[in-house]
Amino acid sequence: MSQNSEAVIAAENIEKYYGYGNNTIRVLRGISMEIMRGESVSIVGPSGAGKSTLLNLFGCIDSFESGRLEVMGKDVSSLSVEDLSGFRNRHVGFVFQTHNLLPEFTALENCMLPLLIRREKWSRAKKAASEMLDRFGLSSRADHKPSEMSGGECQRAAVARAIIGRPDIIMADEPTGNLDSSNSKNLAGILLEMGREFGLTVVIVTHDMELASMTGKTVSIIDGQISESGS
Ligand code: ADP
Repeated sequence: MSQNSEAVIAAENIEKYYGYGNNTIRVLRGISMEIMRGESVSIVGPSGAGKSTLLNLFGCIDSFESGRLEVMGKDVSSLSVEDLSGFRNRHVGFVFQTHNLLPEFTALENCMLPLLIRREKWSRAKKAASEMLDRFGLSSRADHKPSEMSGGECQRAAVARAIIGRPDIIMADEPTGNLDSSNSKNLAGILLEMGREFGLTVVIVTHDMELASMTGKTVSIIDGQISESGS
């Protein structure tokens, strides 16, 4: 298979439940889909449909009851908890609705963190983080803490932090959910542009139909099932 047609996510008949006994909720009901390397995909659907649950499975931060899930060609159910954590660190970057930047650190230090965790040299991490913040139009905010930055700037710094470790996949859960429309557009534009530039696969759960229209493919989930998938 060529690099471009390689599936980075291959899900087959995934079932996910919450709760026990009479209180069991069947949250995902037989989800099968593939997401290819370099693709950008939005996952849309009503609240409670199972979108975040699915994203968390794809990002290897949650488990499922039955079916098969391969991420980067690896059957993730076969990995131990420790191996899964290492696998996730290497391959997946996350962006959430709230930026989750560490409040006591500057934008630069927050952005350096994924590299420092991988034991890169401080000077190298600093240079890479500076360059990344520059790409996100945040050079002038590098030495600012999150409390000294706007919501849009914090969210852009969070995307920079997710991308800096060069993961294969970015999982974004309502990344524009707290932003006004101009900041949303700005964030979505830069996320997808950087995705294309670095050949990343970008999977975005969103209610923002303008953002969904910017991705290569949209998958609609209703009541734990795929109801529609289109370009
Ligand atoms: P969406 O992202 O589409 O809004 P979610 O994936 O967050 O939907 O949730 C799907 C369903 O699973 C909802 O009914 C939600 O209440 C339920 N759910 C999500 N997380 C949990 C949990 N940790 N424990 C129990 N139920 C949950």
